[in-house]
Amino acid sequence: MTADSPVTSIVRLLAPSLALALTVACTGAPPADPGGGSGTTDPEQPAANAIDSLDTKAIIANDQTDAQWPSYGLNYHETRFSQLDKINAGNVGELGLAWSYDLTSIRGVEATPLVVDGVMYVTGSWSIVHALDAKTGEKLWTYDPEVDRAYGFRGCCDVVNRGVALYEGMVYVGAYDGYLHAIDAKTGKQAWKVDTIEQGRKEGRSYTITGAPRAIKGKIMIGNGGAEYGVRGYVTAYDAKSGEQAWRFYTTPNPGEKQENEALEMARKTWSDEGGTWKESGGGGTVWDAMAYDPDLNLLYLGVGNGSPWHAEKRSPGGGDNLFLSSIVAVNPDNGEYAWHYQGTPHDNWDYTHTQHIIVAELPLEGGTRKVVMQAPKNGFFYVLDAKTGEFISANNFVPVSWAEGYDENGRVIEKPQARQTDGKSYETIPSAYGAHNWHPMSFNPNTGLVYLPAQHVPLTVTDDKNWEFNKSRPGVMMSGMGWNFGFGFNVEPPKAAAMGKLIAWDPVKQEERWSVPYPAPWNAGTLTTAGNLVFQGTAHGTFIAYNAETGDKLWETPATSGVVAAPMTYELDGEQYISLAVGWGGVFGETIRAAPNVTPGKVLTFKVGGTAQMPEMVAATRTELVEGAIEYTEADVGAGAGLYVENCFFCHGLPAVHNGGNIPNLAYSKPDVLQNAKAWVLEGTAADKGMPDFKGKLTEEDVQHMMAFVQALADQQRAAQAGGE
Ligand code: CA
Repeated sequence: MTADSPVTSIVRLLAPSLALALTVACTGAPPADPGGGSGTTDPEQPAANAIDSLDTKAIIANDQTDAQWPSYGLNYHETRFSQLDKINAGNVGELGLAWSYDLTSIRGVEATPLVVDGVMYVTGSWSIVHALDAKTGEKLWTYDPEVDRAYGFRGCCDVVNRGVALYEGMVYVGAYDGYLHAIDAKTGKQAWKVDTIEQGRKEGRSYTITGAPRAIKGKIMIGNGGAEYGVRGYVTAYDAKSGEQAWRFYTTPNPGEKQENEALEMARKTWSDEGGTWKESGGGGTVWDAMAYDPDLNLLYLGVGNGSPWHAEKRSPGGGDNLFLSSIVAVNPDNGEYAWHYQGTPHDNWDYTHTQHIIVAELPLEGGTRKVVMQAPKNGFFYVLDAKTGEFISANNFVPVSWAEGYDENGRVIEKPQARQTDGKSYETIPSAYGAHNWHPMSFNPNTGLVYLPAQHVPLTVTDDKNWEFNKSRPGVMMSGMGWNFGFGFNVEPPKAAAMGKLIAWDPVKQEERWSVPYPAPWNAGTLTTAGNLVFQGTAHGTFIAYNAETGDKLWETPATSGVVAAPMTYELDGEQYISLAVGWGGVFGETIRAAPNVTPGKVLTFKVGGTAQMPEMVAATRTELVEGAIEYTEADVGAGAGLYVENCFFCHGLPAVHNGGNIPNLAYSKPDVLQNAKAWVLEGTAADKGMPDFKGKLTEEDVQHMMAFVQALADQQRAAQAGGE
């Protein structure tokens, strides 16, 4: 093939992925009574947190012991710091497997298990809830919200779920297709379900839910995802008993004349009046992950996501900060009334969501103690804000960044001029849209004063897509056939930065790194820290590790059967401490690339000192051989196929032969008949149960043949390169 052949061009177009693939191959005291809740638990006697009486008082009372894990981030402050210390730096080397449980699905697992009353509640992919005996791992019940697999393509980043909320005898799960389900904790039977995206569903918009609901004073709070596609973000609170809507807070203005509240009147002034597509696209700003709550201040903190489309000038031309995109917004959890906001990334242009984990803590600052919120969002800066007022205290970058110099004393970012690609050239965004830190939870240990943060870099360059139109699908425009809206092209110029993953122990007072541990690949798991002077973290390359929280010395390590992305948790039962984590490789990075030898079905692995259960084996990879001779093709076939592949397939199946396949197969490593029979699974629904979209009526048989020609050609090119020693 000549240097200008379609295959070579498309590989150059996507070269960032090539570079990446090569790299990879290779808490304080309990707060005052917040009121609310009808449970019988007395804060003076916190021991009996029975599931039936688990209310806000009981969740707060657990802070005295941390014996249970009743809420997503352990406590309302979401510290993921446990006071349990029976497992500690002295005996962590004796940890062994107590039990394992098979979640059965090979798709991504991002959940933090909750444990109350000796029962573990954990979610696997497709939002399926599993209730297990926390001592033995025995299944008590499972609840399947029966998400239509055809809905899979409507989410950007795998059919994952981060976990449940518990409240007064009920389990709450936000299902991928936008329904909030209430389940009886004892029986696993549905009590009610409510459609959280009713209007968007009517309009055919791609809303999803992947985040864990939060339960506060008789209300269940849940947000949504979809800013990559074109939605208006919001958070809704529902009555825990009835499912009746209590309030809804929108994060972007109403495209019509009238705003829902005064906060949105303020926000509206930061969006363009004329031009731009935000009124069609909804503007984005989805709250798809982080929330935290402070009972003393009675504030609920919401982490708000990126703009839709990503390209700021196409969304809202002429500047404007575009509130409340890429912000933390504090609201009153009783009625959803706005209290304050802080926007770290004004006029977001880079998919710099501020949905990442929010932690409330008391820090020694200015000679006293100050209650703060801390966040390390995608844009690479670590923020410390006043929890009561949102006042900016400090920010510093925890990784190298190319988009900003830093922050002024008012907390306003000082951007670098080239960060918005105003010259029409490609720009290497550091951090990239994958984030310097993504949803993988961080943890804060008040004993060491350190935040344990999974940091990373995935290389990417972006270029203005001059012909972009909202919801217009075009060959060669990344995932436009699946409804994605960027306004950018990617990796027209190959990025220069190297892929990176590391665990950082960050001092939030000094705003500097204390210690760090490098990893072979990005996309490592969330963290847990304990009073045993420990930090636990799973890795992309398929291990589970304990570190000394003070020094970063590795104290213990075990194989984990597959790459890990979810955060570990801990609980005490009958006098014994357990460490548990949900394993299952996935998420937006993990669909196409793996750093472990293989991707195996999701599991829950639970450890204790002296545990003797047998660790399940990592099943050997079956997809290792490049496909050969499946399809005959011409260069014209390959060129046509390349554009269609990028338009429809790329973010799930990855770049053929260059990526190595995550939890979704890389087709260049198929058996020949998979490519030869592509019509069946692309147009006739034979893989629909796995989440494969239905392309009937969208693509022709000839289109499918061209795409398979592209796959075969890249496999052939890679084989030739390997033979040539490249
Ligand atoms: Ca996003």
